[in-house]
Amino acid sequence: MIHLHDTLTREKRPFVPFNKQRITMYVCGPTVYGRAHIGNARPAVVFDTLARLIRYEFGEKSLVYARNVTDIDDKIIASATAEGVDPSIITERYEQFYIEDMGALGVQPPTIAPHATHEIPAMVAMIERLIQQGHAYEAQGHVLFSVPSDPDYGILSKRDREQMIAGARVEVAPYKRDPSDFVLWKPSSKDVVGWNSPWGRGRPGWHVECSAMIERHLGETIDIHGGGLDLIFPHHENEIAQSRCAHGGLPLARYWVHNGFVDMGAEKMSKSLGNIITPADLLAQGHKGETLRLALLSAHYRQPLPWTDTLIRQAKATLDRLYRSAGDCQPGDTDEGVVEALRDDLNTPLAMARLSTLEGGALKASAKLLGLLESTADDWFQGGGDPEAIEERIAERTAAKAARDFATADRIRDELKDAGVILEDGPSGTTWRRE
Ligand SMILES: [Zn+2]
Repeated sequence: MIHLHDTLTREKRPFVPFNKQRITMYVCGPTVYGRAHIGNARPAVVFDTLARLIRYEFGEKSLVYARNVTDIDDKIIASATAEGVDPSIITERYEQFYIEDMGALGVQPPTIAPHATHEIPAMVAMIERLIQQGHAYEAQGHVLFSVPSDPDYGILSKRDREQMIAGARVEVAPYKRDPSDFVLWKPSSKDVVGWNSPWGRGRPGWHVECSAMIERHLGETIDIHGGGLDLIFPHHENEIAQSRCAHGGLPLARYWVHNGFVDMGAEKMSKSLGNIITPADLLAQGHKGETLRLALLSAHYRQPLPWTDTLIRQAKATLDRLYRSAGDCQPGDTDEGVVEALRDDLNTPLAMARLSTLEGGALKASAKLLGLLESTADDWFQGGGDPEAIEERIAERTAAKAARDFATADRIRDELKDAGVILEDGPSGTTWRRE
């Protein structure tokens, strides 16, 4: 049986889905206005691994996994204004990058990827219901959620009122009845993207997007709601408030699962701190997506993950070893030890330790649960992805040329070319670049 640590109850609980044939999981996805960094990639990889485990346990078709795309947001509008283009130009560009970057990390597409801009009617309907029930009010073209109207507000983050007001860094605005109230709808000026609503032309707040899309695609109560630790407050607290109040007190999710941060030295990796590293940068440096995926899974998902060059080197060395042990075997039986480790709140470090004791088909099949060893050993060792391997091949070619073995030298050059690596011979030796 799978056990998951549930943020709401603060304990590890057996995972018993409401309906085994239709397990529902929702993970807050990207706001598409910039390239995803490694910290953004962590939840994508963690919940992809959880999705693989659930499908292994309950069957391929058992899980409906929704990850939304936030394609309306003030940061998107600011980027669009700065470039002088329509916001859709920005969002389509960065969504495509997100799909490519996560695909390189072996993240399978979610079952559904709802887009905020396609779901405005569902949001408007939910806001109308909240107003009717006295949980929201209109003021100066805005609609606000009335936090004091919900006696259970704060159940997830367990903050007291003072902490909540400080933590939400809520804008003090004259139209708010209470400083903790948050925006469900806000007005759009003529030059800003907006939709018609009962409260005038405007756009939704971020929190209501998730509540409305969960209701529409997955139902009133879902099995698992996931995301990064930083979303617990205010985002998930607000999602809970909106959904419970709109659904007569029904819980929004039966299990709340949150992953820890990726750290850079002493700080969390974040755009606002300007210390980000993106999968795109690392891939361009020649690291393989699978190396980055293993690095992201090397710590338990709830723990902070310090991101260092050593971590990447170790992940690469581990994969070299695993590919050697797996050889060119077809997947065999999945190892029960690996599955058990994952069932225990997705204990990927333990699963990885167990993988290291396996070989051949069992290794190949078990690694699949973690999204690893997806290439063949030949591709891994000869492929063009990894700079060390490329340098080794170049050294072999140089040695072959020195020995006047031009057939071998040409073969190495052609193999690298097939793998997308172009060699250039110059006066100071051979350099390489990607095609
Ligand atoms: Zn969300």
